[in-house]
Amino acid sequence: MGPGPVNAHPRVLRAMSADMLGQFDPEMTGYMEQVMALYRPVFGTENRWTMLIDGTARAGIEAALVSLVSPGDTMLVVDFGRFGLLLKEIGERVGARVEMLSAPWGETVPMEAIAQAMARTGPKLVACVHGDTSTTMAQPLDGLGALCRDAGALSYVDATATIGGMEIAADRWGVDVVTGGLQKCLGGPSGSAPITISDRAAEHIFARRHTEHGIARADLAQGSGIRIGSNYFDLAMVMDYWSEKRLNHHTEATTMLYGARECARIALGEGLEARFARHAAAGRAVVAGARAMGLTVFGDDRYRMTNVTGILIPAGVDGEAVRRRMREDFEIEIGTSFGPLQGKVWRIGAMGYNAMKHKVLITLGALEAVLRAEGHATPPGAGVDAALEAWG
Ligand SMILES: *Cc1c(COP(=O)(O)O)cnc(C)c1O
Repeated sequence: MGPGPVNAHPRVLRAMSADMLGQFDPEMTGYMEQVMALYRPVFGTENRWTMLIDGTARAGIEAALVSLVSPGDTMLVVDFGRFGLLLKEIGERVGARVEMLSAPWGETVPMEAIAQAMARTGPKLVACVHGDTSTTMAQPLDGLGALCRDAGALSYVDATATIGGMEIAADRWGVDVVTGGLQKCLGGPSGSAPITISDRAAEHIFARRHTEHGIARADLAQGSGIRIGSNYFDLAMVMDYWSEKRLNHHTEATTMLYGARECARIALGEGLEARFARHAAAGRAVVAGARAMGLTVFGDDRYRMTNVTGILIPAGVDGEAVRRRMREDFEIEIGTSFGPLQGKVWRIGAMGYNAMKHKVLITLGALEAVLRAEGHATPPGAGVDAALEAWG
């Protein structure tokens, strides 16, 4: 019950025990086609280029940034937590001139501030996290795409922590590239990064393709068209592999593809609206339960992620001892956080297969017992009762 990875759905684990297929076997390429179709609604898009990057969520982030940004480009990072800092770090490695627009941890960035920062810095790319698990905040993204398009900038969103749990609306947001991972709300293992790419971004990426004799002169003169500085993460090559051309690139990670496919089938089978409502109920229950126990919930209520909740560790309580007892006595793992929040908060996740009423109630009941054992008694039964009521 931490911020991910979390328990995988049993159906996903079963799907991943199926045998290998050759990578050009029609059955395999048929599954690739299915994965493209299954992930479009999951991303809220009709983008043709919707597929998987092999690797953990970070592979999706890196593929997006190395393919969208040319060395020397200005990239604006909308930053409100640890994963905003990761975008900066990767952007710098790719050679971008990174400009940061940062909110204090526990808050998000107003759209007007993004507009102002864009006017000031003139970015080629605006990069943003949707839900930053490190702070448990979700950045509102409606209107971001229009802002970027009007300014001639591309846009990128890391939706790893929210995909399958909160609405991802790539088309309505109007953003160009969105990436995710399986190990949070999609209820799979880490190791596959779903990605969606707008036609506009795909054109930009294909245009950077180097010519037979190296970098095209015309492109160089324009300062663009510098070839993508990675082979594995060159999205133009990955798209060629996922197109009907089937140009061999890497060997698609067969088992992860089975897992990713099953994750999306389960999500769509449940219905996305029902799934978001289930995560919202779980988040409400954790917040209500924690407050009824007299604990303080971290961050701005208006922008809270539904699937992970930060709880301030009360003064005098040893946060690590609580986590240890939760794990050793109850087999429940909860998280702490990073950087300024390290050792200051616990993070309780209710993601994917774990966003279930009984799991939330058992976790709160266990937390009450553990806090009592650590000398911090809370009103008996209050957390579980409040959570039950809040679930609705
Ligand atoms: C968990 C998380 C990641 C994790 O990336 P991995 O490479 O799968 O470890 C990336 N971004 C966000 C916002 C996350 O919450």
